[in-house]
Amino acid sequence: MSATVVTFASGEVHAESLVSAVHAHPEGAVVVVERTPFHPVDHTWPDQPGDAGSITSGAGSVNVVEAVMAAVSDEGAFAVGADIPVKRGAEGWTWLVGHRLDVAEPPAWLVEGAAVTLDVDEARRQGLSRGHTACHLASLALDIAVADLWRKDPGADALGNPDFEGRANQTSRIHEDGSVDEYRLGKSLRKAGFDTETFAATLPERETRINAQLAAWVASGAASGIETDGPTIIDRRRWRCELPEGDAVMLCGGTHVYSLSTFGSITVGLEMRDPQTLVMTTTVPPAP
Ligand SMILES: [Zn+2]
Repeated sequence: MSATVVTFASGEVHAESLVSAVHAHPEGAVVVVERTPFHPVDHTWPDQPGDAGSITSGAGSVNVVEAVMAAVSDEGAFAVGADIPVKRGAEGWTWLVGHRLDVAEPPAWLVEGAAVTLDVDEARRQGLSRGHTACHLASLALDIAVADLWRKDPGADALGNPDFEGRANQTSRIHEDGSVDEYRLGKSLRKAGFDTETFAATLPERETRINAQLAAWVASGAASGIETDGPTIIDRRRWRCELPEGDAVMLCGGTHVYSLSTFGSITVGLEMRDPQTLVMTTTVPPAP
């Protein structure tokens, strides 16, 4: 079997392909095709959920609940998501996109070699793309809004500002039209030179700054997109956004909008869940 060719980076949501493997599974059968428009969830950093949609042939149609990462060893061992026993790109393994179905046993027509049509749920994809781009913009705006609180240089983010995101981000969860990011404001961040006390005392002011920055970026209508080093799921991909301050480029395996003019607005809320945990909630209200 050869590595799945993935086309989501160019915005594709439909494809014709041939089935290369079908595996029954109690949590939902997994289908592999030669070429797919589905974006899978990354099991090592599951920030963006995998695409949902359907696989259809002349004989019938099945629902794809979520696209996932899969891999097959040279010896024929097939594994999905967190069950993959090796690191991404490990030798002796071929990397695939699996399409997890809502049934444990695949229908009789869904077999190796079958010609199928793959259709991604476009509304969900677009919502996730808006959520992911908004999430990155909010992180960059957060870095700017707290830049004055560093007493030492923590390293630079994608726009050259002090990298709070890189130092403190613990988890990032993207959903349709939004995201939730958690940051750890513990001892190690303080040791790295961040003034957590002043930050906690000025939270509303920081939030206002972030929202003003986001409004300016949305108004700029900057181009946004995905660059890729190759056609398989393990090739490196980057998000690039041509902001007025300069191009922001970061490693990212997700999907994104093509222009910030897609957004009516982006807003964030900051909240201290406990003295050491900052939660940033990013929301993309429907465009007017
Ligand atoms: Zn990303």
